[in-house]
Amino acid sequence: MEIIQTGDPVLRKVATPLAVDEIRSVSTKHLIEQMRDTMRAAPGVGLAAPQIGESIQLAVIEDRSDYIKDISSEQLATRQRLPVDFHVIINPKITIVGETTLDFFEGCLSVAGFAAVVRRGASVRVEYLNERAEPITITAQGWYARILQHEIDHLNGTLYIDRMQTRSFTNIENVDRFWKSRTIEEVREDLGIDG
Ligand code: ZN
Repeated sequence: MEIIQTGDPVLRKVATPLAVDEIRSVSTKHLIEQMRDTMRAAPGVGLAAPQIGESIQLAVIEDRSDYIKDISSEQLATRQRLPVDFHVIINPKITIVGETTLDFFEGCLSVAGFAAVVRRGASVRVEYLNERAEPITITAQGWYARILQHEIDHLNGTLYIDRMQTRSFTNIENVDRFWKSRTIEEVREDLGIDG
């Protein structure tokens, strides 16, 4: 499926919660399969329903081990990035746990070709329903916590560009050229971003 790009009003709407019978419907099952395939084809680590034009409170998440195999162990450690199995979150409620924040470059399939430093909570708790409408509560840290914050933002009409350190906004080519190999402290210093 085509991923909707920034500027489309559907990305700015608060998405509608799903009822239990809707969650268990055949059409939602098909939608989840299509979203999973679209996320993997992109590839991306998350996809929210508004990004394919469905203004409903549903997102899919998956951070595969083959996505991170070429990232240095040092980078993975600073990002607290570990593989996350495919799962579906429906009608999520998110709470940031604690005061600790982490700054890292982040991108979005709906703002294709760009990235920016986004400050996110280091730890979150999320209550949601899974694809069988069973209530689940998870706590997540690091990169997985960032993915959850990013996807749940989508369900509330918020994009990372609303939260980014604006001076860090860059195209992907220049992330690789200038910023990828630097620590986030060096990035912040070079760009004049307060710590
Ligand atoms: Zn996104």
